[in-house]
Amino acid sequence: MTNTTTPRPGRRSLTGAPLKVMLRRMSSLHLTAVSQFERAADLLGISDAHRAILSVPENEVIVNFPVTMDDGRVEMFRGYRVQHNNTLGPFKGGMRFSPAVDIDEVRALATWMTFKTALAGLPFGGAKGGISIDPKAYSPSELERIVRRFTFALGANIGPDHDIPAPDMGTNAQTMVWMMDTYAQMGSIADRHTVRRVVTGKTIAAGGSAGRDKATGQGLTFALGAWANRQGIDLDDKRVALQGFGNVGEHGARTLVKAGLKLVAVADHTGALHNANGIDPEMLWRYKSTDGAGGIAGAPEAEAIDLEDFWRVDCDVLVPAAIENQITAERAADITASVIVEGANGPTMTGAEPILADRGVTVIPDVLANAGGVTVSYFEWLQNRAGDVWTLADVDARLRRVMTDATLQIMSTAETYRCSLRDAAYVTALERLTTVLNQRGMFP
Ligand code: NAD
Repeated sequence: MTNTTTPRPGRRSLTGAPLKVMLRRMSSLHLTAVSQFERAADLLGISDAHRAILSVPENEVIVNFPVTMDDGRVEMFRGYRVQHNNTLGPFKGGMRFSPAVDIDEVRALATWMTFKTALAGLPFGGAKGGISIDPKAYSPSELERIVRRFTFALGANIGPDHDIPAPDMGTNAQTMVWMMDTYAQMGSIADRHTVRRVVTGKTIAAGGSAGRDKATGQGLTFALGAWANRQGIDLDDKRVALQGFGNVGEHGARTLVKAGLKLVAVADHTGALHNANGIDPEMLWRYKSTDGAGGIAGAPEAEAIDLEDFWRVDCDVLVPAAIENQITAERAADITASVIVEGANGPTMTGAEPILADRGVTVIPDVLANAGGVTVSYFEWLQNRAGDVWTLADVDARLRRVMTDATLQIMSTAETYRCSLRDAAYVTALERLTTVLNQRGMFP
């Protein structure tokens, strides 16, 4: 049963500190995450207790650990694992290696994971972690030692049925295999294989799933397809501008082009490109992996444009798939797309949302649009648990079903509550979370 108390400005947290004071101490990214779910909590009228529980993470683990560098020096690193909520199942979420990683960013990302897994109907909670480093600044052997020592420092804070990391920005399948191997070495010999599912997003050879590498990009294409289909919009030849050409961006580009759309602009940390006749993702990926030395700047068959002009490019679909806080209020006023598909987490700033809404721009929110990654991570976890191997066709079909169902669900919730798709996504997730919170009750 939900408590229909309306929110009061001076509401107090469960710990007695005024909730607003607690929130003011949080970073703007975490505030963004909390304010997003608070809007949905208002629509649903959920209890103060449930608001307080979901406003702060359950556990925050910070580890400082030493690693020997190639030149013999010992460097200290700080790693994070924030476990936001496990009402629906084991904590689940990526590991991010980026200089911008700090406790507040990880809190926000962990919070989004709780709502993402709930929305996708997965039996997982939400977590996130990472290290504040630029992985490109370290040699492969240094990176391996950093990952292994981080995993060792986390110890039993992660586990195959407790908290299951996955790749995110700056990490990849190799990172996950190092984490898995280190975790396995820390346990008993007899469990070496049963603990493989302590991480997902592994290489296929080491127990990963077919389709995990492209899952987030593929998922956003399925979500856009389901939304367009329900709206009666034909996506054929629709022009896409895409920011970020990493895991999500590259596979987003490939799957969108395969679905019949045209990639007209791409931006990453090195520059921005435009070609109204279309950019070939395969060509761009080959360039990035060879001559581009990890970036898209200087790629052939497209004109270099100013980074700020990227946001004004003529297009129908905009896919931010790089980092957070990219769609500012200023940029929102210039965006020409009629739909934004949030591949990245938190790319739209709170101040930009009303501007986009006034201009009739639909936002397919991150908690839905990029849920393909965690969904196929769940498939990988299931396969590891059962000792099974699914085909790519099977994975894709199941992913399409999850993304389509979640998209149609939030479109119908948005109609019921006359709200944005973002608010509808949080309402849907909150309904699932509060149902279980109510049934389980408060301990003790
Ligand atoms: P990645 O490290 O593979 O790629 C990041 C991309 O962003 C690169 O192309 C980089 O050039 C670009 N970038 C970084 N800083 C930039 C800047 N200042 N301006 C423009 N471009 C910039 O990361 P990823 O795994 O593709 O993740 C991208 C986003 O998607 C993140 O927000 C991540 O949390 C989210 N996400 C990833 C997954 C996944 O499965 N990898 C799943 C869900 C959500």
